[in-house]
Amino acid sequence: MKVYNTLTKKKEEFKPLVAGKVKMYVCGPTVYNFFHIGNGRTFIVFDTIRRYFEYRGYEVEFVQNFTDIDDKMIKRANEENTTVKEVGDKYIKEYYEDADNLNIERATVNPRATEYITQIIDFVKGLVDKGFAYEVDGDVYFSTKKFGDYGKLSGQNIEDLQSGARISIDERKKDPMDFAIWKAQKPGEPAWKSPWGMGRPGWHIECSCMAKNILGDTIDIHAGGSDLAFPHHENEIAQSEALTGKTFANYWLHSAFVNVNNQKMSKSLNNFLTARAALEKFDADVIRFLMLSAHYRQQLNFSEELLLSAKASVERIYNTIYNLENLLDEVRTTHITDEEKKYLQSLNKYKEKYIEKMDDDFNTADAITAIFDLIKDVNINVNIDSSKELITGCLNLIRELGKPLGMLQKSTKVNLDDEIQKLVNERQQARKDKNWALADKIRDDLKSRGIVLEDTPQGIRWHKIDE
Ligand code: AMP
Ligand code: ZN
Repeated sequence: MKVYNTLTKKKEEFKPLVAGKVKMYVCGPTVYNFFHIGNGRTFIVFDTIRRYFEYRGYEVEFVQNFTDIDDKMIKRANEENTTVKEVGDKYIKEYYEDADNLNIERATVNPRATEYITQIIDFVKGLVDKGFAYEVDGDVYFSTKKFGDYGKLSGQNIEDLQSGARISIDERKKDPMDFAIWKAQKPGEPAWKSPWGMGRPGWHIECSCMAKNILGDTIDIHAGGSDLAFPHHENEIAQSEALTGKTFANYWLHSAFVNVNNQKMSKSLNNFLTARAALEKFDADVIRFLMLSAHYRQQLNFSEELLLSAKASVERIYNTIYNLENLLDEVRTTHITDEEKKYLQSLNKYKEKYIEKMDDDFNTADAITAIFDLIKDVNINVNIDSSKELITGCLNLIRELGKPLGMLQKSTKVNLDDEIQKLVNERQQARKDKNWALADKIRDDLKSRGIVLEDTPQGIRWHKIDE
């Protein structure tokens, strides 16, 4: 497999530290609010990459942190008249609800920064002891000039970075590029006891520390949105490698932004759509399809039309699934013929194409094209005369290729949303009660929503009028 490494600016052959295993750390959300679909893209992309490694037989240790202490958390706690801890608890719960609904697999570990304060203090202490960090009035700064490789991820030297970056001039820092790894307590802020007085960790140090404590000094993959490459990841590398003297991460992966009118979707620009709001209107398959229809290193200019077109595309694939599932109810032959065997075998060319594309730095866009080519072929060649084994083989293949993308796992048979299911149940009750008028009314209501019911000896069957 080839992955694009931001560190070397090249696609490289992926070589894990331990054969068959992947240690992966992804920078997670700051939990002061609901996440938006821009954040969602980053989570979906790395969930897909993790799933694909698993599909290829790797065992993945996947860590994604929650930043639960920083300025935004403190501000939100003050606004809501509550504690930083409660803000964190609340939005971590909301994160799981939305992430689960987006079919994002749960991480192996989701560490919270505030649960690692002791380890963070040890980390900072280690850097001070080694002369890579210094204290000023209860703040501790990392000395970027001391770390010879500073700038290697961004591919710039320290002078270029200095002139390009908007850096706050702080008289107390030895160098403008130095950054805080421990911050002295300000009035009203939550704080922990440390050798430098009461204070709290800086943002960059938490990821270095949690990655080290959970995954070890060197990991395979470190990832996040492209805005994190500088300074967040650059600073993580500096801190971690200064402390351990070892390579921090072998591969650095960055996913591109979701934009709106060519501007980054962000909470501060107020141009965002929360994942929660998107999920109210669109299925997870549709949102994932949209996010994966572009290569992860390509920016995506978001619009509602794009979601609508993703919806139409997903429906096309589900139509095939629907047809195959219905054929299974009606098939006349069970056993596969030799000719069918050959045909099923021939469909492997789409799987090979899919794997070739995904192996090439996770080209989900082309992998999706391979799925469309597969369903086109199946639509033409599988019908009521096909055997049960062939139909099942086709369905399994579609689902197999959908799984790493976190899509196409649903059955159209249970695809009624809850409200419609409730109406179907109510109608059954009405029939039991011999309330024919009500039963007919529910049937007509469903029909007006495009759902047709059929009473069969096996029970109620339903389908959409246009399918
Ligand atoms: P945050 O909660 O702001 O710390 O962001 C969580 C993750 O979402 C980080 O990996 C960010 O890089 C990523 N992210 C933030 N905004 C966007 C965006 N508009 N498009 C894609 N990823 C984003
Ligand atoms: Zn991070």
